[in-house]
Amino acid sequence: MTSQTRPLPVAVIGGGFSGLMAAERLLNALPPDRPVLLYERSRPFGLGLAYTTANPDHLLNLRATQMSADPDRQDDFAEWLARTQFDVTERRGIRVTEAGTFASRGVYGRYLAARWERVVAGAGDRLQAIHAGIVDVERAPEGFVLHDGDGTTRRVAGLVLAMGNLPGPVVAASRYRRDPWRPDTFGSLDPDRDVLVIGAGLTMMDSVATLRHAGFAGRIVAVSRRGLLPKPHAPVAAGHRPSLTPEIRASARKLFGAVRHAVASAEAAGADWRGVIDALRPVTDELWTGLPPTEQARVLRHIRPYWDVHRHRTAPPAAEAIAAEIRRGQLVVRAARIVALSDTPEHAVVTIRPRGTRDRETIAAQAILDATGFSRLAETEDPLIRALLRRGLIRPGPFGLGIAATPGGAVTGPEEGRATDAPLWAFGPMLRGVLWECIAVPDIRDAAGDLADRVARRISG
Ligand SMILES: Cc1cc2nc3c(=O)[nH]c(=O)nc-3n(C[C@H](O)[C@H](O)[C@H](O)COP(=O)(O)OP(=O)(O)OC[C@H]3O[C@@H](n4cnc5c(N)ncnc54)[C@H](O)[C@@H]3O)c2cc1C
Repeated sequence: MTSQTRPLPVAVIGGGFSGLMAAERLLNALPPDRPVLLYERSRPFGLGLAYTTANPDHLLNLRATQMSADPDRQDDFAEWLARTQFDVTERRGIRVTEAGTFASRGVYGRYLAARWERVVAGAGDRLQAIHAGIVDVERAPEGFVLHDGDGTTRRVAGLVLAMGNLPGPVVAASRYRRDPWRPDTFGSLDPDRDVLVIGAGLTMMDSVATLRHAGFAGRIVAVSRRGLLPKPHAPVAAGHRPSLTPEIRASARKLFGAVRHAVASAEAAGADWRGVIDALRPVTDELWTGLPPTEQARVLRHIRPYWDVHRHRTAPPAAEAIAAEIRRGQLVVRAARIVALSDTPEHAVVTIRPRGTRDRETIAAQAILDATGFSRLAETEDPLIRALLRRGLIRPGPFGLGIAATPGGAVTGPEEGRATDAPLWAFGPMLRGVLWECIAVPDIRDAAGDLADRVARRISG
């Protein structure tokens, strides 16, 4: 069969982990004559933002045993680690701890690159991996027309949006702002002047490792509303899930009261709080989607920062490195709000209000790294997201997070919860807001098969 007589392809936009998983499973689920296109604008295929780093101190925040990319073989990554030869830098990035083995994200990127090669080899000419950024999408009778940045257009029968976390919000404009993922843009930093990191979570920890790797020896000040640091993993298995009645499940306060109670009981019995948190993981999406919107808003406002530091834990060596920085006074973590920011010729003047006070303090920052994570859909300057919003093809998800979609990923229109007639899906962190657990490797890996089946049913039907 020639390419002219083939049915139109299904396209995936975004060649990170979500794109790799979606493309791989679509190749299995779609009829064998249906091609798959995968677009990636800037990185090697399969790695995305998280796994392109070469810094051996950028560690995975899950154990090797949790990071398999193969839904049918839970130990695939751990076994690959055991049989692969590594160079000196890579070996530095593999840390065996009491809580399990944690590899660097660069090593994990190598694992994904090997998987990608196998997918390409197995797919033959059915898979087209295109290094281009899609900047616009038009609805067409048979699906969509995709426009890439070079002016090339392609017709497709269906489209999966897998563009990952949207770039962080611009808290305030400053010419001292630097991209935490681009150390090449840091310039030469003066060891006698502060660098400000906005946020205190996993991305802040990464930013500290990036700054040190880039040779910065000065003081780093991290500012976040609550100043909470991610907790480290420990050698603990999942414990008992607290019993959650329908009454408890309907209220944010009661739900988290029940979790706190279960943690207290576990600790009184000599067990670790982590067991309770981990036991909740299989039902977190269900708990989130079961809460009324007003209660979901309460979770986001009051509970999420505490939940995140307990649930999204860090590798013990990364936590130890941060603790050592704090002990030496090289890293100062402030619980405060940024209330003003202005630039002088030498530095940015950042005014903060420490939590629980009316005081004002200023920080003179020679560079500012925004480590707050992801932005709300409407705030992003991403050209494709802006084009999709303009054309009415997508809407912001609940609370402005991610894209409005069904829990299965079908993009929904103005009628709440109803999929549009367009063959359009969102996948991975783009579903943030609809789902709670959609951002980490195990969630994305396990969800890809169902997504591909739904796409195949819709396209074939
Ligand atoms: C720094 C960091 C560390 C993390 N560590 C872990 C971890 O240890 N364990 C874990 O389970 N999870 C971790 N995560 C969570 C992470 O979100 C997932 O593991 C996963 O990598 C998400 O992949 P993604 O493909 O959805 O997004 P991304 O990795 O962001 O990939 C999206 C890709 O889409 C491309 N793209 C975007 N727009 C376009 C366009 N218009 N056209 C073409 N291409 C486009 C981008 O260039 C990018 O490569 C981490 C996340 C980050 C940011």
